[in-house]
Amino acid sequence: MIERIRTYCLEHSLDKPFGFSQWFYNKRHSLVVEITDSSGAIGYGECYGPALVTQTAIDNIYAPLIIGDDPLLNEVIWQKCWKSTLDFAVSGVMMGGMSGIDMALLDLKGKLLNVNTSTLMGGSVRTSLQGYATGMYFDNDSDKNLIKKIIKEAEGYIDSGFKALKIKIGKNINFDKALIKQIRSIFPDIKLMADANHAYDINEAIIIGKLLEENNYSWFEEPLSPTQLNLYSSLSNKLDIAVSAGESEQTRWGFQKMLDCKAVTIIQPDMAYCGGPSEALKIRSIASSYGINTIPHCWGTQLNLSCAAHFLSTSMIEPGRNEEPLLMLEVDHTPNPLRDDIFNNKVIITKGNVQVPDEPGLGVEINLDAMLKFCIHQTEKMNGK
Ligand SMILES: [Mg+2]
Repeated sequence: MIERIRTYCLEHSLDKPFGFSQWFYNKRHSLVVEITDSSGAIGYGECYGPALVTQTAIDNIYAPLIIGDDPLLNEVIWQKCWKSTLDFAVSGVMMGGMSGIDMALLDLKGKLLNVNTSTLMGGSVRTSLQGYATGMYFDNDSDKNLIKKIIKEAEGYIDSGFKALKIKIGKNINFDKALIKQIRSIFPDIKLMADANHAYDINEAIIIGKLLEENNYSWFEEPLSPTQLNLYSSLSNKLDIAVSAGESEQTRWGFQKMLDCKAVTIIQPDMAYCGGPSEALKIRSIASSYGINTIPHCWGTQLNLSCAAHFLSTSMIEPGRNEEPLLMLEVDHTPNPLRDDIFNNKVIITKGNVQVPDEPGLGVEINLDAMLKFCIHQTEKMNGK
């Protein structure tokens, strides 16, 4: 029985801000959900989105609703949360809250049943994954100097063994063109992707998409606003490169809309935002019926990283063949002690290869004392209180 639900809003002020096409980060935030059952077993999950707002949603709405429930019945709990808030939370921040609860329940369920999350998801078909390095964000230096710094950062990832990189674009068209070409010329044999974070209009997206094609990039991520699915389908029609999106989309119904209008050829739900890992499984099933692969967006702490690793370890590639292409796991390298400094054991990454954790649950363990140093606001709901 679920005995107690705590949430921890974590914050870290960055020594040096970093930017992408939309804004600069000065702080890192995460919202961690802790669910304790009557045996004393504890599961942890994480929510993506504005942490203090999501925290209020969990503490005021979802925690009181599910305290006392059986944590093994995670699908029942999801439906209960969904139905109770359907009139005003079909998508958005509250779905981020449900995602963290869902992730914590899978972690807890795995621990109670002594199996890892991949097993709960139906079973691993691979125990290690190729990681791709995400980083190479912007600063306020001149475009020319920034490109030099990005190349140096990229060389560091390659030296540490990564064979795939995702660069940030969407700063300005001239910068983007120069970066795309220079990175490819320096790393002719590396798998490259580019993420615009919805910075372009349709004409710019066509121009940049064609340049990415010429330079053999593997996918073009979030070229356009997530509100413009019709423009996404026009773009996908005009380009040969895979167009990907979905980190701001949620639930099977949201993704079905993207799939129905042929907006993208790769979908990227975030386990900590899309409705949680159990909802991501449904999203993946729907996508597979359209012949589309699901490669999660991953940002945040080890909880989300581990969850995405378990998810990808259980993915059947569409359409599948003997020598399969790789489904890669996003490994964020931006400065974040909430990912690097609050865990006793982390997801093991060796030379760019990610080992899928095999301990029960998510397989990563929070160091409570270390986490509390970053906690700016904590909530708690207990059975009977
Ligand atoms: Mg992205």
